[in-house]
Amino acid sequence: MKKTTPSSLTLAVLFALAGCAAPGGAPVDDKVDNNHRRLLTLDAHLDTPVHFGRAGWDFGGRHDPAVEVAQVDLGRMREGSLDGGFFAIFTDQGPLTPEGYAAARAHALARSQLIDTTLARHADRIGVATTAAEARRLDAAGKLVAFKSIENSYPLGDGAAAMATLADFQRQGVRLVGIVHSKNNQFADSSTDKPAWNGLSPLGRDWVREMNRLGMVIDASHASDATVDQMLALSASPLLLSHSNSRTSFDHPRNIDDARIRKIAAGGGAICASTIYLSELKMGPLRAALFDRLEHIGTLAPLDQAALSRDWLALDLVEPLWQTSFEQYIASLKHLIAVAGIDHVCMGADFDGGGGLAGLDNVAQLPRITERLKADGMSDADLAKLWSGNLLRVLEAAEKGGSL
Ligand SMILES: [Zn+2]
Repeated sequence: MKKTTPSSLTLAVLFALAGCAAPGGAPVDDKVDNNHRRLLTLDAHLDTPVHFGRAGWDFGGRHDPAVEVAQVDLGRMREGSLDGGFFAIFTDQGPLTPEGYAAARAHALARSQLIDTTLARHADRIGVATTAAEARRLDAAGKLVAFKSIENSYPLGDGAAAMATLADFQRQGVRLVGIVHSKNNQFADSSTDKPAWNGLSPLGRDWVREMNRLGMVIDASHASDATVDQMLALSASPLLLSHSNSRTSFDHPRNIDDARIRKIAAGGGAICASTIYLSELKMGPLRAALFDRLEHIGTLAPLDQAALSRDWLALDLVEPLWQTSFEQYIASLKHLIAVAGIDHVCMGADFDGGGGLAGLDNVAQLPRITERLKADGMSDADLAKLWSGNLLRVLEAAEKGGSL
């Protein structure tokens, strides 16, 4: 929700002043657009920090999706009225060894600081939040909202030091932490690996208790079914799945079955609808090589960044990562709402982490979702829950459960 609701004309002037091209895609009806703009809209999983270190790339700009791989920037957040979300410290997994942990920890700390310095550069437009109340205050003041999150707890390392490092990240402002990514780690089994711990490891059980004590939200996206079950049983606070869908919509281990969705909802948690794994993943050798380059885009010279964007977008034309249509995405979102209930669904598209689909390929297009749901008769109150109310409630529950 914004205090001021800029008209299309004002926006056009703003884009012109910023040297921006006109927004791409079909224009959204003004009335619906205003509906969307009145909402506080948050995305639970933004991988955009992968772009923060790029030489010559400005998070404050509005990049043209026709030539640019990044899907989120302040210009397009304004255009699509995305008011903020959780910016992820993602760490790719190396060996589960002291050397591997040390390298990963250094990476995660550097990424955390990079998020801080990038946000500080744009402090007039986006503020850092560590509580639900702070997010609402920032929004009321007309500012965008940035939370910090961790995807993959691998960089926390092993033993008692892991818990100290987790507390250290909490002090740095992190409020949402994913236990695992696509491979098993020292804490838990991943949904896309063979069981090693049959759920949580003993250290993973400590991790759950420490997350509760620190008042942080447990992110169960990427966790195996057994890991989810054990976290549900052990955690004093509700679980969040920051970017997942139902297996009924697309049967893949990265998605979650409806019985578990109901259990997470019954525990007060929420599932944030994603744009990924709603169709078969097309990960040929070309795309895999591009993903590797993308993970290190912050180290590339501007010309090499442009070449990567060009190669990525050229491959999108002949072999898109996903074949999902916008209507399939809407059907999946509606299924989540039918199963979990409107109080237990949130948004987490996985932009800049492999998310996006035709018609929803960057944040500028988010008003289409509101437009489509309004056309289906969804009330403004329910839209408010979906776009941020449920996510902030889960955060508040973790804050209250904490004992700091
Ligand atoms: Zn992910």
